[in-house]
Amino acid sequence: MNDNLDSLFMPKAVAIIGASVKELSIGNVIIKNLLHYRFNGPVYPINPKVDEIRGLKAYPSILDVPGEVDLAHIVIPPPLVPGEVENCGKKGVKAIIINTAGFKEMGAEGQALETDFLNKAAKYGIRIVGPNCQGIINSDPAINAYCNFTFTFPKPGHISIVAQSGGVGAVLMQAFYDMGIGQRMYASNGNGSDVSITEFISYYGKDPETRAIVLYAESLVNPLEFIEVVRKVTANKPVLAITAGRTDKGAEASRSHIGGLAGSISMDLIFRKAGILTFTNQEELCHAAVALSSQPVPKGNRVGIITNTGGPSVIAIDELVSCGLTIPPLSAKAEEILKSTMLESASIRNPLDVVATAGPAHFRSALEVMMNEEQYDSIYLNFVTPPFVDCENVAREIVAAARAGGKPIVCNYMTDKEKWGTTSQILKDGEIPCFDFAETAARALYSLVRYNRIKTTGKGTMKKFDDIKKEKVEQILRNAFQQNRKVLSATEVYSILETYRIPVAPWKVASDVKEVVYAASQLGYPVVVKADSEMIIHKSDVGGVAVNLKNADETHAAAEKMKSGLGGGMKFLVQKFLKPGRELIIGAKASESNGHIIMFGLGGIFVEVLKDVSFCISPLSDVEAKEMISSLKSNALIDGFRGEKGINKEKTMEILQRISRLCEDFPSIKELDLNPLFATGDDICVVDARIIL
Ligand code: ADP
Ligand code: MG
Repeated sequence: MNDNLDSLFMPKAVAIIGASVKELSIGNVIIKNLLHYRFNGPVYPINPKVDEIRGLKAYPSILDVPGEVDLAHIVIPPPLVPGEVENCGKKGVKAIIINTAGFKEMGAEGQALETDFLNKAAKYGIRIVGPNCQGIINSDPAINAYCNFTFTFPKPGHISIVAQSGGVGAVLMQAFYDMGIGQRMYASNGNGSDVSITEFISYYGKDPETRAIVLYAESLVNPLEFIEVVRKVTANKPVLAITAGRTDKGAEASRSHIGGLAGSISMDLIFRKAGILTFTNQEELCHAAVALSSQPVPKGNRVGIITNTGGPSVIAIDELVSCGLTIPPLSAKAEEILKSTMLESASIRNPLDVVATAGPAHFRSALEVMMNEEQYDSIYLNFVTPPFVDCENVAREIVAAARAGGKPIVCNYMTDKEKWGTTSQILKDGEIPCFDFAETAARALYSLVRYNRIKTTGKGTMKKFDDIKKEKVEQILRNAFQQNRKVLSATEVYSILETYRIPVAPWKVASDVKEVVYAASQLGYPVVVKADSEMIIHKSDVGGVAVNLKNADETHAAAEKMKSGLGGGMKFLVQKFLKPGRELIIGAKASESNGHIIMFGLGGIFVEVLKDVSFCISPLSDVEAKEMISSLKSNALIDGFRGEKGINKEKTMEILQRISRLCEDFPSIKELDLNPLFATGDDICVVDARIIL
């Protein structure tokens, strides 16, 4: 990874190889855009057939350009690209944007061309953006680089965008523009043959003017590197991303629960692991970026509301509360102050209704009190512009309060923006995030609270577990590999779990009916007898589980029946019958490059019907394990309710972390399924387990 992208974002001179006189061509539009955006340096059109393009002198080759060139666009057919990259190298170009498409995505021939130009670029230390991309924008007034063929000309600001899809990138850029919100840098990197999404984010992370980073990515070349790098960025700056492809039914049919459930959600998991704020709605993401790039991060979720109109604050409260924010009452001291400063008709509580006739002084006092009140972490405003009020000075008070206080302000601003143009401009210049609808503003505030949670919770710590004898598992797996077995036997699975100190129901393996009865007497009745065969996936579906066997006769009969039903050659697992408590399920699945995905849920209908499960990428920290438990919709059942005892969370967290450790130690474990574990009283115990290599 090399995140110094200065030559790309701060070019001193730009050449366009494939510049064209045709108005409707990319090689012409890029020049038009550079000129329109007032690029702060020379622009060199390269075209051997003409002398001039858009009033600029054209050169037959980049090698003929008199001055230095640090950034070049390449807009010529793929077969000619490697040769021009070589010429760029000779000229001393540092970065190239290849807008042309038709490389790797077109098959072997295109792949060969791509490898060729990448090798040539590497030889000269040139960084490549694309191919098949739009390019970059840097709105820094000292640079004004519009090295891009799109049509939105962002004003300087503090939001930077990187998008794998130029289409989505352009939509987001235009959305900010329409809201009157400036932007800092923009990159659409297309096929991403060289400069990666990770490098862009890391570069934006170090840019002092970038306050919020917006990402659109459908796939990542190196997810583990992405997580490691982006985590560092999100500790200081918010990164916001759309999770796309959520409904992809690409989950492979699998032999265990985790396989069927985990398939399509890994981008979301990668984002969460990296501390990214994820969104499923582009508009909401844009609103959040506006708030995050202009306001400080609140310390918590307690909101003080100031309104000069009734209904909108009712809607706001509904949305805020449903997002988990709280609206604590005013302190006695605050009430006392407000009683003397507010109008007679004002409603002195939280929400504080200053009423429609309130003027600048009333707003000033209201804002001051909310800023000073310790029990509020943020201020939410419903501000309508009454024609009988000095709204411009109200706006000035709002801006002054935002500038003075350490708490964020988010505003539901209700007006006719043409008639109240000056008021609107004051709020805009003061960087007050304003939204037309109460619930939109509420959700923007919620995103600030979400980011605070990410920042303060941190990554958590990894438990060490010194009580594990890894070698024993090594031997079991080696043995299975030597015998070419993919599905481990019950003996192997339960031995592995015991080695990793994961509590399992007392068990014995028996090879015939006589041994079953003997094992049962040793374990003590009642017992459970199960078929132990790698051919059987769901034992109870085929009569391979007999529970609550109270004596030798019942055990004998059950084992005989199982044997005649399922045929010879099969072994038996005899387990102690446990009182069924709450059922849990834990799974793990190896992913191609993300380590393992760990799954947790309540068993039975909660998994099968409600699909109420949580996922996280290994290795699991204590914070992540805790979140896996608390993020379940059925979390209330884990806490216990109406006198029913809950589940021991500490033990559950520890089991999750031990399973994560097992997967980390042995990447050859392809799937692991603990289904179910029984949680009874304070104990948790595995009663069924499967491991596939
Ligand atoms: P499979 O999932 O292959 O059908 P299990 O071993 O999970 O087989 O057994 C099926 C069900 O039987 C479990 O979900 C659980 O409800 C019950 N069961 C299994 N083992 C025990 C046990 N040791 N004590 C009590 N109930 C058990
Ligand atoms: Mg089971």
